[in-house]
Amino acid sequence: MNSLKTYKVPHSSTAQVGNVKIGGEYLPVLQSMANSDTNDIQACVEQAKKIACAGGEMVRFTTQGLNEVASLNKIVKQLKVEVANLPIVADVHFSSKVAAAAVPVCDKVRINPGNFLGRKDAQSTADNNNNNAIKSETKEKLKALITLCKKHKTALRIGVNHGSLSSRIMNQFGDTPEGMVASAMEYLLICKEEDFDNVIVSLKSSNSTLMTKSVRLLVYEMVKNSVYYPVHLGVTESGDGLEGRIKSVVGIAPLLLEGIGDTIRISLTEPPENEIPVAKSIIKLFPKPETLLYHPFENLPYNPFDFQDLRQPDTNKYVELKFPLVVSSPCNNDPQPDIIVNTSARFPVLKYKSIEYVLHPFQVALNKQRPSIFISITTQIHPSDLFRLKGEPILVLDATINNIHEIKQWLIIYHSKKLPFKIILRKKYNNNDLDSFALHAAGEFGLIFSDRLIDGCWIENNQFGNEFNTWLSFNILQATRLRITATEYIACPSCGRTQFDIEKVLADVKKETSHLKGLKIAVMGCIVNGPGEMADADYGYIGAGNGRVNIFKGKTQVRKNIPQKTAINELKKVIMESGDWSKP
Ligand code: SF4
Repeated sequence: MNSLKTYKVPHSSTAQVGNVKIGGEYLPVLQSMANSDTNDIQACVEQAKKIACAGGEMVRFTTQGLNEVASLNKIVKQLKVEVANLPIVADVHFSSKVAAAAVPVCDKVRINPGNFLGRKDAQSTADNNNNNAIKSETKEKLKALITLCKKHKTALRIGVNHGSLSSRIMNQFGDTPEGMVASAMEYLLICKEEDFDNVIVSLKSSNSTLMTKSVRLLVYEMVKNSVYYPVHLGVTESGDGLEGRIKSVVGIAPLLLEGIGDTIRISLTEPPENEIPVAKSIIKLFPKPETLLYHPFENLPYNPFDFQDLRQPDTNKYVELKFPLVVSSPCNNDPQPDIIVNTSARFPVLKYKSIEYVLHPFQVALNKQRPSIFISITTQIHPSDLFRLKGEPILVLDATINNIHEIKQWLIIYHSKKLPFKIILRKKYNNNDLDSFALHAAGEFGLIFSDRLIDGCWIENNQFGNEFNTWLSFNILQATRLRITATEYIACPSCGRTQFDIEKVLADVKKETSHLKGLKIAVMGCIVNGPGEMADADYGYIGAGNGRVNIFKGKTQVRKNIPQKTAINELKKVIMESGDWSKP
């Protein structure tokens, strides 16, 4: 099926962070971030050692002020003795002065264009004169930082986050992928002008699909501007457990599969060293290709940069079905699969509206007087041949033998033909390990669902039972936000700014609210970045320091400095007052 042009995946430039190279032809670098207080030298050293032991190749520390820069210096010195060659990164927000102070101390400094100038840029108005002054100041301060970085051979990460864009950018673009890309490109073009290529760039969001689409757009813009700096991938605040891992891989795998991504951080609300095995598995499961069977940005039957589901509700004969569908064998889960399948007969039988339909293969269905509404096809059938079908069958694309690139190529050709049929993608996995199965299926279906190329999934792995296969399918749909069947938690991984046990609080919040299906609830470690980075959460529990908590409804703070002991009850009250509470 050669009607698409092969695309040679471009390589990014290469950055040097300590002794580690990021970008170019190098494998993606695994990294994590410590969550101990940066001024607690011993705790930080121990955490960095655990991360390195797990296979982490780089560790980041929150660096709020000059005290933390001094502490980081001590951490770096001690780590040099205890763990040779572990590059150290300073994470700096709200101060170009602190960023400059950190440059001689560590191997890479992360700055956030949303707050590089402190509150000034974060809170600027729509006034053009003011904006031009801020732009000039940004340029001047960034150039000074670059000069320092060159002198000390320190790398720079331009780290943009959805939810913490400057007002200047927000006024122009809103909190959108375009705004995130504009924010990063302003800084990257200054780096280019200064001939500084020791740069890494990231665009992160807690919305996995928004992250994927923003990074695609960034790469597209960089290539257009003849710069391609290495890209750091991550879904922020993805929470914990298997749900957190699924949210991460649904955002990261589609990019790796398109050859994008040079370093990875999985943000989990768990001990930082737990992030490394997940990143390792993802890199193994989704190797970056050298070429693709299609161009990921051009001549596509969909907009690769659009992250919103613009599909109209179905008005055809399947209107009572909730698309995207989940197909699976009978199980005791809630929610139940939409289409129950029995695979024990010669051809599988699918139950729809209490009637059983045999899943006939395409050739058999063509010869039948009254074909089943479900028809099995493979990628061997060219999409043009499907015009021969009568009625409105739902096609089940059985793609177990195909790799994900072949599947996507077939689906692109299918959609280019504007065929009217709904498609369910069926894939059997044989991963023996539950985590690896979940990551594998979520990454592949994440790629296909994020571009809305299919209308349902049928995920099988005989080793883990129907309950798990069904749970996984609904979780993937939740992570892509195409179908919400559970409460969504946005929880930060915590860092040196967090002053409470966030893992326990998240578990307690989940215990009280997990029946509130469809709500997005954030648990964030600090008031500095928490409110912005909880992005589109409906409610937020945000640490305010000293055993106090602030409660948010959307972007509005509705309770301030609540003692932590009563904070979950207050959160519940706020949800009740807003009419979003229901009995468990
Ligand atoms: S929200 Fe605050 S505590 Fe959480 S990771 Fe971000 S800076 Fe750290």
